[in-house]
Amino acid sequence: MSVEIAPVRARIADLGRLLYQRHLTDTAGGNISARVGDYICMTPMYAGGHSHWNLRAEQVLVLALDGRRLDGEGEISREALVHMRLYGQFATAGAVVHCHAPNALVFAAVGVPVPPVLEYVQRLGPVGIARYAPTHSALLAENVAEALAAFGNQLAPYAAATIVPGHGLFVVAHDLDTAFDVAERVEITARTVLLGSLLTSERAWIEGAQAVLAAGRAGEAPEASEA
Ligand SMILES: [Zn+2]
Repeated sequence: MSVEIAPVRARIADLGRLLYQRHLTDTAGGNISARVGDYICMTPMYAGGHSHWNLRAEQVLVLALDGRRLDGEGEISREALVHMRLYGQFATAGAVVHCHAPNALVFAAVGVPVPPVLEYVQRLGPVGIARYAPTHSALLAENVAEALAAFGNQLAPYAAATIVPGHGLFVVAHDLDTAFDVAERVEITARTVLLGSLLTSERAWIEGAQAVLAAGRAGEAPEASEA
């Protein structure tokens, strides 16, 4: 087995701790994986419930591309089906983060996309809602893959994300750090939309915020800069 795998397992354990400490997931669930050549390194089942995300690198599983466990302590998460499906779909996918981020969960419960009202999610665009499927089902993998199909197989521009109804967030990216970063950006954007809606009862603020950012990208002077 490649010597490159050891640091990736350690990095996944570190990012799991960070995911939990930064309230980007909860004790109930979430999972992180990365592709290293012909192997997938992935957090084990009950990383939250049994270990409170305080994983040792040796607990991070090493899986073959067909899903067989080759190394690591603990059982394979039932959400590995989704991760494997995404690695099959995206040729350039290097990492997947699934998390139960609390503000994104509000959008998951209501079933509405997270609009890109902040500049730092403009490249990602709106985070849509996959079709519902029960947690751990094979259909969930299909529905997440379907929701992300619009991104093609190259993760254009750099990552892809979707919300699963009543469940949580899936992000696929070129590498672990980007997947983690995008998960956090989506969560903070979700919180911004929720809190922004407390500042004004005018729902049009969401479209207005996106229009200002779009105008800026197009090289036009946003109205705000004229003040
Ligand atoms: Zn989950």
